[in-house]
Amino acid sequence: MSTLRGVGIGLGAASGPVARMAEALPAPTKQSSSIGTDAERSRARDAINTVAADLQQRADAVTGTAREVLEAQAMIAEDPTLQEEIDARLDEGTTAEWAVHDAFAGFRATLEAVGGYLGERAADLDDIAQRVLARLRGVAAPGVPDPGHPFVLVARDLAPADTALLNLDRVLALVTTDGGPTSHTAILAREKGIVAVVGAAGAAHLTDGQTVIVDAATGIVDDAPTEDEVASVQERQAARDTTEAEPTAGALADGTPVALLANLGKPGDAADAVARGAEGVGLFRTEFLFLSASQAPTIAQQRESYIELLQAFAGRKVVVRLLDAGADKPLAFLNDAHEGNPALGLRGLRALRASEDILREQLTALAEADAATSADLWVMAPMVTTVEETAYFTGLAREFGVKTAGVMVEVPASALLADRVLAHADFASIGTNDLTQYTMAADRLLGSVAGFQDPWHPAVLRLVREVGSAGERHGKPVGICGEAAADPLLAVVLVGLGATSLSMAPAALADVRRALAMHTRDAARTLADAALGADDAIGAREAARAASHPF
Ligand code: PEP
Ligand code: MG
Repeated sequence: MSTLRGVGIGLGAASGPVARMAEALPAPTKQSSSIGTDAERSRARDAINTVAADLQQRADAVTGTAREVLEAQAMIAEDPTLQEEIDARLDEGTTAEWAVHDAFAGFRATLEAVGGYLGERAADLDDIAQRVLARLRGVAAPGVPDPGHPFVLVARDLAPADTALLNLDRVLALVTTDGGPTSHTAILAREKGIVAVVGAAGAAHLTDGQTVIVDAATGIVDDAPTEDEVASVQERQAARDTTEAEPTAGALADGTPVALLANLGKPGDAADAVARGAEGVGLFRTEFLFLSASQAPTIAQQRESYIELLQAFAGRKVVVRLLDAGADKPLAFLNDAHEGNPALGLRGLRALRASEDILREQLTALAEADAATSADLWVMAPMVTTVEETAYFTGLAREFGVKTAGVMVEVPASALLADRVLAHADFASIGTNDLTQYTMAADRLLGSVAGFQDPWHPAVLRLVREVGSAGERHGKPVGICGEAAADPLLAVVLVGLGATSLSMAPAALADVRRALAMHTRDAARTLADAALGADDAIGAREAARAASHPF
């Protein structure tokens, strides 16, 4: 047996044939044609028509965003202006490869110069150009493969555009050679509950059609499994699916309850969360309802959405976060100023406070929805930085009859003063995505610094410990609602640091539930101490894994 090691996402395992994501083709050099302009023109036309027809065929087979993306690409491929540009280059006597490459590059530069939505479409042009080039060269098209049967996708890493086109029903597992536990691939895998091992450098030698076992629980990819091993993985998955069908409440091995809650962005997702055993909602991102709105939503509009959400969780806890505007979640009606550094700008509670009428309207809508339903509504403010802001928000929320008012701890300042913050707030919920961004001084949206954006970093864990200890001293709940809660081993560490509930994408609940059930409170504390003692994120993960017998 030969094994490759990476970082597993979740606890699942799967086996199946590999389909590799083909690498980008090298750009052609400018060359004169040896077969003549007419022959080159017909090669170019044929390649473009075939690619457009293929994109259209793939669009017809899917729905939603994927269909829109593919249809738009099919149209771009046959765009008459682009054809003219290609013809102009062919008339100079160049090869079809060069004409296509250079015309697409020119078109790309024009779109980028326009900026905005069109600028963002520039990457789509690269994808089409690569497909046409591949056709001209007679090689496999780069990008997401479609072998026509279920497969284990092996890639360097997945870009957001790749994942939009991925037919998840066909993907048995994901394996990447690059990318870490916070990469786009890892986030997609957690959200959709796909078995994944990321950062397995050795996977570079896997070939199409080769059967592998991908075991996320151990982070191992077995590239030469026996039939018995494949059968045992399939049995393990079947057993896992059966336990997932009847989820129990979250608890440690010694019976200590740890509520497992869902992160939701729209009320329509509630049914799936309930089916997966969410004990309530730990983060309802209200701004997701209004991201494209140019005006503030009315009280009536909001009330309707909140009632729908609260009704789905009758008798259970629902933590609603007030509108979180700024940086990665722009809301023009709360802040449309151009800021040099929006992540450090007028955002979260700062923006709400600057438009207090909108804040008051949201609290009114929530109070009305609460009165009309029987869920246990908790309300929290985003991006709270100071004790004064905490007192301001909780005071105002209580004026509106909010019974449980808390704050999100996403900034080191509020984590460091958590004991004083919790003197005012009824609870804290740690947003580890932003807390990591601000602790590590690394923009969470910027690929070039993604390596810093790892919540396993002991500096982030120390801040979580501050909040957890403050919660224990005040006897107040401390939840976690960032991506970190969806990582089963890190979830145990977070509980060891004092978290009393964990909220995550519903697909991640089952694995986190299993990980908690394998550890006592003492074991969780031991893991937390091991992680805190490390120098960096990789060391912390390794130390926790070594201290955890089941992992
Ligand atoms: C966070 O920052 O961790 C969080 C949960 O909030 P969001 O991801 O919506 O910023
Ligand atoms: Mg946040």
